[in-house]
Amino acid sequence: MADCDRTPGDERGFDLAERLDERDRRGLRRDLQPVDRVAERSRMAADPNGHPPSFTGDELLVFAANNYLGLTTDERVRNAAAQAIDAVGTGAGASRLLTGDTEVHRELERALADTKGTERALAFSSGYAANVGTITALAPDVVFSDELNHASIVDACRLADAETVVYDHCDPDDLSQRMDRRSADAAGDESWLVVTDSVFSMDGTVAPLSELCDIVEEYGAWLMVDEAHATGLYRDGGGIVQRDELENRVDVQMGTLSKALASQGGYVAGNEALVEHLVNAARSFVFSTGLAPPAAAAARKALQIARADDRRDALWVNAATLRDRLTDAGYDVRGETQILPVMVGDRDDALDLAAALRERCVAAPAIRPPTVPDGTSRIRVAPMATHTESDIAHCVDVFREAGTEVGIL
Ligand code: PMP
Repeated sequence: MADCDRTPGDERGFDLAERLDERDRRGLRRDLQPVDRVAERSRMAADPNGHPPSFTGDELLVFAANNYLGLTTDERVRNAAAQAIDAVGTGAGASRLLTGDTEVHRELERALADTKGTERALAFSSGYAANVGTITALAPDVVFSDELNHASIVDACRLADAETVVYDHCDPDDLSQRMDRRSADAAGDESWLVVTDSVFSMDGTVAPLSELCDIVEEYGAWLMVDEAHATGLYRDGGGIVQRDELENRVDVQMGTLSKALASQGGYVAGNEALVEHLVNAARSFVFSTGLAPPAAAAARKALQIARADDRRDALWVNAATLRDRLTDAGYDVRGETQILPVMVGDRDDALDLAAALRERCVAAPAIRPPTVPDGTSRIRVAPMATHTESDIAHCVDVFREAGTEVGIL
């Protein structure tokens, strides 16, 4: 195949080799690492670039996925996806507004609305698309955004061209002060949206939703909550909004189907007017092909299992055991959810620890700047419901050995 060989430095072209070199120099270059399956045990391959991956190494114990309930390989979920293919086809074939709206989508949306305690829900092709589509369609004058909100929320604020006021992480007092200041300066008819993750993906912290509701109600603003890392894991398969019984106080509940629900896609749950508005005005819904039917069906089955099964209990037992034992081993484990940030501090130490874990067949990634602030590099440990007691014990043993070898224990 002919290569489109441009001369680096072409006046109006893009010197991508130089941009990649720059990333290398700043330690920001990322590689892909294919896995042979999405499960608690898998083989990983080095980045094959344009070639097929070769899975020659040992099997790793994976503590790095958002597949929290371990449902990606569950037979019931796989069968649901297969049945949807038989019934309606592999892809939606068009935007939902044209010919891509199927019974499978409607069943998923009914189940999501029931779980989230709302009138309606709407499925998007990803959580990213749900955040971008929803915030741009609301078109707020001002967004008040937690400083650690997910990148898709940050991008949505930019695309919505909203004035964005960033408040301190999980700090209702700071939010309230910023709102006070804004209301002194601004016109009374500005529309305000407060947006927060419920569970923060790199910190395992939980937003103080009830206090945020109080503040939002005081100022007449709206609250939007991103339940990506909570959906399926709390009361009746809901998120933190359900745990804290705030269904009637949160205006927009958003989440993904791609984490505990073991599939792909995003959703927004809220009242009839919200969903009808998004169907008409959320550009990532209107101008994008409908969610693939097997993904919708897999998510619906996973949600059913999350609501009915003891999977959630197994996850919480694993998370608590791992947290206690890593702490006993001498690690500083933060957060209060199934996401366990094991603090290391120095960036290179975190990379060395992740490499030492990997040599011992435990996959848990180092999270470092710019994803987290300088001096707060960490290993993000994510247990799954399907890890066995001996998997958890092995993980802790490996953390002890690796931490000693790297010199941080
Ligand atoms: N919100 C949060 C908090 C997330 O962590 C993610 C994914 N990492 C998303 C939104 C985007 O969801 P998706 O992967 O389904 O696009």
